[in-house]
Amino acid sequence: MVMDKLGDSLQGALRKLIGANRIDENVVNEVVKDIQRALLTSDVNVKLVMDMSKRIKDRSLKEEPEKGADPREHVVRIVYQEMIGIMGKGANIELKPQTIMMVGLQGSGKTTSVAKLARFFQKKGLKPAVIGADNFRPGAYQQLKILCDKLNVHFYGEEGEQDAVGIVERGLKDIEKYDVKIIDTAGRHALEADLIAEMEAINNKAKPDQKFLVLDAAIGQQAGVQAKAFNDSVGVTGIIITKLDGTAKGGGAMSAVAEINAPIAFIGTGETPDDFEKFDADRFISRLLG
Ligand code: GDP
Repeated sequence: MVMDKLGDSLQGALRKLIGANRIDENVVNEVVKDIQRALLTSDVNVKLVMDMSKRIKDRSLKEEPEKGADPREHVVRIVYQEMIGIMGKGANIELKPQTIMMVGLQGSGKTTSVAKLARFFQKKGLKPAVIGADNFRPGAYQQLKILCDKLNVHFYGEEGEQDAVGIVERGLKDIEKYDVKIIDTAGRHALEADLIAEMEAINNKAKPDQKFLVLDAAIGQQAGVQAKAFNDSVGVTGIIITKLDGTAKGGGAMSAVAEINAPIAFIGTGETPDDFEKFDADRFISRLLG
């Protein structure tokens, strides 16, 4: 998977410190350059990479290594902390009744993620239900209904209905007795004014506890701009990064976190409902750094 490539590059860079018996400025420079290259290749926001590599260099040279830490361990610890600083610790997903609204551009993997999210809560013993309010993309209704049926998840939708806010209003009544209410909203190819207005109207109607922005891992440097636009409109509380199994460019989507200060909530790693995990920054970054 994607991050394997970034992981290999980062681990390769840090390997240069193996056997070093002190923190040598030339070696640190070389390692930081390699780290920079690895992050840029995976499309992490350029400014973030520059700021971060400067801090890694300064801290590696200035800070005293922890007791007993060799130079590699010293630098790994700093890289780790700096990456947590960028990605955040991950979202706090509470296992209790709640309403979740999903937003994102068309093709981002939003509909698939709705089903995955329902499955996640179902496996935790909560009763999820889904409202399909994406009435823009032809086929979205059927796609979501089929996915939900397969998972035995209650689905409310109105095929052919134009009024998405109305669907949500009636849907919320229909699924009242369920624990986790997940609302799929329409995506477009770009964030157009009518889409923004619709999202805001649904947001006002449903007053969701969580608003998850779904981003394709391959989005690259566009991630920040897009995340900001969605955030300005509905206030994003968490990010779901999809298709991390299929690209070596996941760093762009990761950078969106820093842009809007919303944590990564889940990551999608394949097409089936179970290819989905709660994002755990500790685990994720530890895996990257080997
Ligand atoms: P939407 O337009 O945002 O609702 O997008 P869909 O949910 O229909 O997803 C678009 C395509 O991406 C579909 O073919 C999905 O199977 C695929 N997809 C979604 N999430 C993932 C993922 O995590 N990994 C992979 N490999 N494919 C995914």
